[in-house]
Amino acid sequence: MPESGSDPLIRQTQLFIDGQWVPAQSGKTFDTINPSNEEVIARVAEGDADDVEHAVLAARRAFDEGPWARMDARDRGKIMHRFCDFIEAEIDELAAIESLDNGKPVKDARSVDIPLAIECIRYYAGWADKIQGSTIPVRGDFLCYTRREPVGVAGQIIPWNFPILMAAWKWGPALATGCTVVMKPAEQTPLTCLRLAYLAQQAGIPDGVINVVPGFGPTAGAAIVQHPGVDKIAFTGSGETAQHIIRQSAGTMKRLTLELGGKSPNIVFADADLESAAEGAHIGIHLNQGQCCCAGSRLFVEDSIHDSFVEKVVDLSRKRRVGDPFDPTTDQGPQVDRDQFEKIMSYIDKGKKDGAVCATGGQRVGDRGFFVEPTVFTEVRDEMAIAQDEIFGPVLSVLRFSDMEELVRRANATTYGLAAAVWTRDVSKAHILAKQLRAGTVWVNCYDVFDAAAPFGGFKQSGFGRELGQRGLDAYLEDKTVTVRLG
Ligand code: NAP
Ligand code: MG
Repeated sequence: MPESGSDPLIRQTQLFIDGQWVPAQSGKTFDTINPSNEEVIARVAEGDADDVEHAVLAARRAFDEGPWARMDARDRGKIMHRFCDFIEAEIDELAAIESLDNGKPVKDARSVDIPLAIECIRYYAGWADKIQGSTIPVRGDFLCYTRREPVGVAGQIIPWNFPILMAAWKWGPALATGCTVVMKPAEQTPLTCLRLAYLAQQAGIPDGVINVVPGFGPTAGAAIVQHPGVDKIAFTGSGETAQHIIRQSAGTMKRLTLELGGKSPNIVFADADLESAAEGAHIGIHLNQGQCCCAGSRLFVEDSIHDSFVEKVVDLSRKRRVGDPFDPTTDQGPQVDRDQFEKIMSYIDKGKKDGAVCATGGQRVGDRGFFVEPTVFTEVRDEMAIAQDEIFGPVLSVLRFSDMEELVRRANATTYGLAAAVWTRDVSKAHILAKQLRAGTVWVNCYDVFDAAAPFGGFKQSGFGRELGQRGLDAYLEDKTVTVRLG
């Protein structure tokens, strides 16, 4: 096993292709940075088109000729469960690497990200032997049935906000269906994905089934998207990159699933349980340093309770402990990198200039690392940049409402449609809004409740297709219709 980097935790820094750890063909590496102190954690091999070529050939061979898609589906499921046993056995190390590379509090990686990742892979392991077609009553003397077959080689490009969890969301359905994978993790956070690949191999996932090529989007990412040997792209990240991917994949007609951003409305009515709504508003925006695609970044508060409710939310923000992600009392670590940090600070500036009131936060914390105070803006108007754009940081925009019809129009008045939440004790109102909000997920009296069995994805420019649940499998399957003349 090649070793590199000064931290003994970091054991995988090369490309993982066809079951081998290899340097980039160019010999290039890039630094991955600890966002808490801006120091280099490790040098990672920088894959590009030549390495992607090698990885796609391996994945292609593993799919077309290898045992994975051909083995008894039940055995695939068993190997996936064994993979999860290995993840569980290393949960502390994995959480530490995730926290070093991404900056999230290690307690969150340990108690949220990794358990959800394990649940996802186990959930799909259970599906492996339950993927079945149907018999169709066609006209005439024919037997007509459908088979559900793996789509082939999946190119998977993931972001840096939930590195382990995003790998699990992508690998779970791909492995269960018998697909093979070429994954590019985000340049900011390649380390846990490489460690997972190592564990997958230990668990018995055959060579070439999972290939990991760290590198940059415009080189490694684009090569995956354009490669004719890749059948499908699963992408999570920004809308801008998604548009490139749509254009660049057109030439080879790849299947696409895209999970993009949001500016999700979190709506609080005067008749809600206001204590739990305040908690939900707080976690809804600040979880993961605000770096969540489904962050409840537009908080709509009913006029009659506005001031007292905002006070509760501001109070929670003030109590949020920002600091060292390895300190067990820390609630919020640094933003993932300098670019994100600067983008967030510039939105905070814009909010102030546009006339919103910065009720708490708004400053950098310390002078080393990318820490930002939990920030709440009040008196935000719908047309302000902080109410329109995805900031992807701990910055909440509070908006007032009084009329319900007007509220629905305003809540839906964005190009996004990933998630929404409603807090009320009025059951009818909750269901009416759940129907009227144009979003892929609507939470009622809760926020950020995820389950591997429940589909997740976006309306409008928040994406194509769904991940998780049975719907998440469909994205990795082709339907084949077989018709047999009987008479
Ligand atoms: P991004 O550029 O969309 O990155 C996501 C992934 O796509 C990364 O692995 C990236 O590679 C790769 N990529 C970039 N350009 C590509 C291309 N031309 N072809 C193929 N792959 C490509 O997102 P970002 O720059 O990290 O973050 C920018 C903003 O995106 C954030 O501020 C946030 O608003 C949004 N975002 C959303 C999510 C989400 O969960 N929906 C997650 C992250 C970010 P690199 O490693 O080189 O970047
Ligand atoms: Mg990028």
